[in-house]
Amino acid sequence: MSASVLLIYTGGTIGMLADPRTGALRPMDLAHLEEQVPELERVGVRLESIAFEEPIDSSDMRPADWIRISGIIGANYEKYDGFVVLHGSDTMAYTASALSFLLEGLSKPVILTGSQLPIGTIRTDAKENLITAIEIAAAKDEHGRAMVPEVAVYFEYRLLRGNRTVKVHAERFEAFRSPNWPALAEAGVRIKYDRSAILPHRSGPLKVHDRMDEHVAVVRLFPGIRGAWVRHALSMPDLRAVVLTTFGSGNGPTDPDFIAALREARDRGVILLNATQCVGGRVEQGRYITSQAFAQMGVVPCADMTVEAALTKAMFLLGQHTEASAVQRAMGEALCGEISRSRDCRGAFRPSERWPSG
Ligand code: ASP
Repeated sequence: MSASVLLIYTGGTIGMLADPRTGALRPMDLAHLEEQVPELERVGVRLESIAFEEPIDSSDMRPADWIRISGIIGANYEKYDGFVVLHGSDTMAYTASALSFLLEGLSKPVILTGSQLPIGTIRTDAKENLITAIEIAAAKDEHGRAMVPEVAVYFEYRLLRGNRTVKVHAERFEAFRSPNWPALAEAGVRIKYDRSAILPHRSGPLKVHDRMDEHVAVVRLFPGIRGAWVRHALSMPDLRAVVLTTFGSGNGPTDPDFIAALREARDRGVILLNATQCVGGRVEQGRYITSQAFAQMGVVPCADMTVEAALTKAMFLLGQHTEASAVQRAMGEALCGEISRSRDCRGAFRPSERWPSG
């Protein structure tokens, strides 16, 4: 019997058409998308689909939408072998990270994909992304278990762990990287899976969580940042956590007023998290004098987590726990492959890999 895959269409460039009046791209419905890919009939997978009533540009995605997508997967979990989520690329890394936390104990593939050019355009990257994502969602190992039992992003011949992914290019087809974790698979003539990089199978039932706390913010440090700015940014009522995106291996200014502004927030109960602005590498608080104050005031180092993963993990944990100490502790624990415990992570600036330039 052929494998079954549920396609969940949320929007994004993949299904967009140009508005005849303004030329701006806007989301179209699923029927339009399916019409453009007659090849879907031939992939050898039993394919069914479900769509957001109003497909959206992913810049409009909110935590409630992540919960909606995980709810759809939960409600259909037993019926399908795998899931493909069609999604705009702009915030795909956030959604992939959020889904990885919301779908606890996942043992089936949830593959997010989209495209840089709409599916109806001649040079589109959408068809390959869609068809290969479906193949990966349907793929089984020699024991008949899902080949990729986790949330992943498929784009331009690479399958990446969802909660390790960052969007690195606004125009290139190769729009995503996962700097701190190797690709889970590469698609060429065959799809080659790197089994040592894929999460091990989990037994036990899927638990779909349905709470995310939105009282979390990201504050990007910059040279010259002032205490007054930090006080202003952190003055949002009911703020529970802030991801500080810091320099290099987790550093920031030593300016006493800047440090005092952070202490004031901490004393009000705001959880402070430290994630690096660098696309690869990890936070090591205390390595430089410029991160010692963070360590002293109890800022939680996010190690090699992406900002996307740190933010969505904080939202998720705050949705589950009321105790700040439980959230702080769990931020440092690996829930689903989003963080490497030590420097021996399979951190991946491989010499053969070049960052897209320009
Ligand atoms: N703005 C689009 C979106 O994220 C871009 C894309 O789909 O690639 O929905």
